[in-house]
Amino acid sequence: MGFPFCNAPNTATIICCHIMENKAPILYVSHDEDDGMWQFLCGRKHTVDEAVK
Ligand SMILES: [Zn+2]
Repeated sequence: MGFPFCNAPNTATIICCHIMENKAPILYVSHDEDDGMWQFLCGRKHTVDEAVK
């Protein structure tokens, strides 16, 4: 497994693999003001420390 997030091409967007692969509902949306990155997460446990860098 490893990194639990998928980077969408051409956009500063991170979508967790639960949503990408398992069609999990998006329960948490985060917009980073600094770099404009969007995060779409399912609300389950992730290794967020690895995702946010
Ligand atoms: Zn997830």
